[in-house]
Amino acid sequence: MRGEDMEQQKQIVIIGAGYAGMMAALRLANQTRRQPVAITLINAQDKFVERIRLHQLATNQALVERPIADMLRGTGVRFVQGTVTALDPTRKQITLQDSTRPISYDKLVYALGSYTERSRVPGAAGYAFTLDHASAMRLRERLPGVAARGGKVLVSGAGLTGIESATEIAEVYPALRVEVVTSDSLEDDLSIPGAAYVHETFRQLGITLRERTTINRLEANRALTGDGSALPFDICVWATGFGVSPLARQSGLRVNPAGQIVIDARLRSVSHPDIYAVGDAASFAPESGLSLRMACATALPMAVQAADNLSAWLRGKPEQPFGFGYMIRCISLGRRRGLIQFVDADDRPQPRIITGTAGALIKEMICRYAFEALSMQRRGIGILWWSRARSAGSAPELTAARLRG
Ligand SMILES: Cc1cc2nc3c(=O)[nH]c(=O)nc-3n(C[C@H](O)[C@H](O)[C@H](O)COP(=O)(O)OP(=O)(O)OC[C@H]3O[C@@H](n4cnc5c(N)ncnc54)[C@H](O)[C@@H]3O)c2cc1C
Repeated sequence: MRGEDMEQQKQIVIIGAGYAGMMAALRLANQTRRQPVAITLINAQDKFVERIRLHQLATNQALVERPIADMLRGTGVRFVQGTVTALDPTRKQITLQDSTRPISYDKLVYALGSYTERSRVPGAAGYAFTLDHASAMRLRERLPGVAARGGKVLVSGAGLTGIESATEIAEVYPALRVEVVTSDSLEDDLSIPGAAYVHETFRQLGITLRERTTINRLEANRALTGDGSALPFDICVWATGFGVSPLARQSGLRVNPAGQIVIDARLRSVSHPDIYAVGDAASFAPESGLSLRMACATALPMAVQAADNLSAWLRGKPEQPFGFGYMIRCISLGRRRGLIQFVDADDRPQPRIITGTAGALIKEMICRYAFEALSMQRRGIGILWWSRARSAGSAPELTAARLRG
């Protein structure tokens, strides 16, 4: 590189190498091969975690190991393993744990994802497992022994993660008694046929469901509920929702009450536009009219758009608003059954569902597609497709990111 190019070389730093951060890095690398730009990807672990399969990991199923260095091979992206502990948006620097030398950026992509929130209920952090990677690894060790003596697993939460965890555990360890406790009911978040299918699957797998019940406190081997009951357990799995790192709030970025970075239609922090935020760590400003739930299904498209916008910025071209319309929710119910719940563009459940083996196959294909979208992007082929039926900015349209791969 010539001296003047070195001077102009832009530093793009991406923090978090989950679905969103990895996609942003690979796509940006594809699009900027001949440009004076250095891309650095930072992640706490050296392996890519397929979070959407962590209930499989917890139940002793073999998952393929995915070293981040392999996923980046040949792309020119520099990988740094480390935990980001500070972000200074004024100096445009981040700091890693155990390092005194900050890393500077011209543009930052913030993709630190989320983790299972356990702080709201006393005892949950101390006595419950989660489907986060480290905890899932411990759960994997613990389940066989408890199953061998016919013990009981209590799953707190009947959202997608709670349903997937309970069914996976019950299918792999039929000797376990599995109970799911939820403060609402299955019908609140699924269509009537969808909820009926989950009820029937729970019945077949011997899972008991306690709806409209709130856990107020967790002790070593029992959960105390709002109606005064004490539910005993050998293992409790906490799956009541995700929380995000406090880093954005501590750094002075504008965040929503959950701590997610508030972003504009082009995925830039509304308070610090040199920072793009994608995936679970981000939430659109209310005025953009687009609200998304934390999901791999939204994290990947957001990352594609952020990479395209950064690439446009480098070329002096206008950045485009993000659009996304929901179509389906794919829920695994063990390995033999699945539920594909059709939804409208706003994520409201519709009566149409696909169930049984067909549902399980579709769900498995979607999980593979999520990873394949990354592998293909590394080779310069953008296969990720999504509906743009709702836009955070201009007119709705249906498009394929493939066209711009
Ligand atoms: C069991 C389970 C099943 C799921 N199933 C589905 C599903 O079927 N469909 C769906 O759409 N979604 C599903 N989800 C949700 C989905 O996994 C997340 O929404 C998705 O992973 C978000 O992607 P992300 O890139 O924003 O964050 P993440 O995948 O969480 O990645 C964030 C990365 O940042 C790293 N990181 C965090 N903090 C730091 C730090 N301070 N310094 C350095 N690195 C850091 C993390 O280690 C991680 O590698 C599921 C989640 C779980 C737990």
